[in-house]
Amino acid sequence: MHKGPEMLKKPLQYLKGVGEARAALFKRLGIHTVGDVISHYPRDYEDRSMLKKLIQLEDGDQCSFEGIIASRVVVSKPRRGLTISRVSIRDETGLINAVWFNKPYLKDQLRPGERYLFFGKITRRGTFEVLNPVYEKMDGSGPVNTCRIIPVYPSTGKLTQNVIRSVIRNALSYTGDSIEDILPGWIRERYGLADALYSISNIHFPESDDAFLKARKRLVFEELLILQLALMSVRTVQESDLSGIAFGAREEVRRFIGGLPFRLTNAQLRVLEEIERDMESSRIMNRLVQGDVGSGKTIVAVAALVKAVKSGYQGAFMVPTEILASQHYSSLKELLEPLGINIALLTGSIGTKDARRILEGISAGEIDITVGTHALIEDRVVFRNLGLVITDEQHRFGVRQRAALGKKGACPDMLVMTATPIPRTLALILYGDLDISIIDELPPGRKKVLTYAVDSSMRERVYNFIRKQVKEGRQVYIVCPLVEESDAVDAVSASELALELAHKTFSDLEVGLVHGKMRPSEKDDVMKRFISGETNILVSTTVIEVGVNVPNATLMVIENAERFGLSQLHQLRGRVGRSSYQSYCIMFNDSSSEVARERMKVMTETSDGFIISEKDLELRGPGDFFGTRQHGIPELKIANLYKDMDILKNAQEAAEALIRDDRTLKEQENRLLRRAISEKFSGIMDAISMN
Ligand code: ADP
Ligand code: MG
Repeated sequence: MHKGPEMLKKPLQYLKGVGEARAALFKRLGIHTVGDVISHYPRDYEDRSMLKKLIQLEDGDQCSFEGIIASRVVVSKPRRGLTISRVSIRDETGLINAVWFNKPYLKDQLRPGERYLFFGKITRRGTFEVLNPVYEKMDGSGPVNTCRIIPVYPSTGKLTQNVIRSVIRNALSYTGDSIEDILPGWIRERYGLADALYSISNIHFPESDDAFLKARKRLVFEELLILQLALMSVRTVQESDLSGIAFGAREEVRRFIGGLPFRLTNAQLRVLEEIERDMESSRIMNRLVQGDVGSGKTIVAVAALVKAVKSGYQGAFMVPTEILASQHYSSLKELLEPLGINIALLTGSIGTKDARRILEGISAGEIDITVGTHALIEDRVVFRNLGLVITDEQHRFGVRQRAALGKKGACPDMLVMTATPIPRTLALILYGDLDISIIDELPPGRKKVLTYAVDSSMRERVYNFIRKQVKEGRQVYIVCPLVEESDAVDAVSASELALELAHKTFSDLEVGLVHGKMRPSEKDDVMKRFISGETNILVSTTVIEVGVNVPNATLMVIENAERFGLSQLHQLRGRVGRSSYQSYCIMFNDSSSEVARERMKVMTETSDGFIISEKDLELRGPGDFFGTRQHGIPELKIANLYKDMDILKNAQEAAEALIRDDRTLKEQENRLLRRAISEKFSGIMDAISMN
């Protein structure tokens, strides 16, 4: 059989130059195997391809040159903490001096008479000089760090670019031409795509700009094709001709809406109508409701639940966090208990005894609506006649979880709510399995959230403003970012700030703290105190990012705003501006990075979630936006859904053709593709088999 796949699964230590220590560093980048490292694509490139003879050098050149060490390395120590190493280098046309700082060991590495390749910036001070040049020995497989276009990789501090480059070079020579092409020949031909080996080699060490472009196009296509095929396989399963429930209860829904303290907006009414029509038909509903933060999605979902219950079925409402679950639970109780509807809350933190009682109620059909976290998809939850499944803030759930909850009923209707608006074209592709409704209108009377980006020098003024808001009876959020990937550190920074504010700056006010490391019951208490107005200022991590609704809160202060993506900033800002009081969002940003500044600018200039999401796509690199966390889809390694829209369209067309001819991708020429899909999307495939 092929030796390709086995080689790719070998641990990294198989490669020359990788011991335990380096392997550990690579692990931190999520790289475990030879296959992982060759698909660790560069984030950028540096052109070092200009190669000159020494006589051709000019002041200011950045170029590569070849030369022989022409003297011993002389090391001097002009002052503490500084060593300077100098050596002269010659070729057949001239001489140049090389100077390095703080690399005393070069003395033992560069020997007179040896030949090297160099790259660096040339200056002329009387004689020519090159500062801190990169150098490497010529070897069989050609230069890695000089004389060519050089890849620059995503890295963590301790892994240097040189190390990553040489490991990848070794990996490529190890796998050699045993890399298999998973794309069928006809697809490569029709879309003018380079073959796999060429593309992998040239994405890392491009022979030319043109070769890079060809390589990238092929790899982007492949990645998007696999994504499309995986999504389509979800759809084919769901489109099977199982028939769903035909709900009724139109009257009851009208009565429910009529009893609300406000009128639904036209957008809410339109979307509710679309939902009701789906529910009344015997086709299974698979509908996505997109709506900006604060557009009032919850009430539309609740109306759909009323329809289900009053037609004699149970409903399930799944949300991503406990905070949100208990918030929805209380508001559902308030709205629906007067209509004789029984609501239960089911989360991981509910005690065993209570849980047992609730589970019994669910299976006996005494509980009409269960609100909960992913505890809802556990095996022990058995519904008597589940008719409607709603997932709120869908961007936090995977396709798999959605499917799993759906399996709890015979053929329940599914409603998916998301507050991460995405451009329509993308929605069609990513949620191709769903019909889409958009609530594109905010309830009347909402004022625009006034948004400012400030730096730390304004801290005192911001604190004064916080005090002013509190004096007027309003409440304030202060959000701290994830400092590192670890929740622990994250929690510390929020706790420290809360402590300081509670004991110093705002010692006369009530300061609360909520973060992900707290026990659910603690979180609940803190949130309850904030909701009741007892707490004036809530310091938190991003656990309050989604869904939290406290209309009296009018000021959102975001610490280290540069660490958040645009969609996240927009979500956070969406926690305020939920009443007729004027609301504010203040973002602390001390970063001067271009991207950070651009994000701040977008935030201060627009409040339209659709525009923001499009900007977000544009400003983020591949891999960020459609991460697992947000869409339940594996991170894209190379494709950029904003910039690669054309390739995406081709990939979608190809995927359709493939599925049409060979629905389960069983044919010989499609088998490798099929395997790639199931490896990458094992999560989704757990729930939806392609057989
Ligand atoms: P989101 O779309 O962000 O989930 P919510 O459903 O939490 O928004 O609604 C935000 C707030 O707006 C809630 O307090 C809700 O009661 C209120 N609301 C919803 N629809 C209307 C409406 N038509 N008129 C006035 N207020 C509304
Ligand atoms: Mg919501």
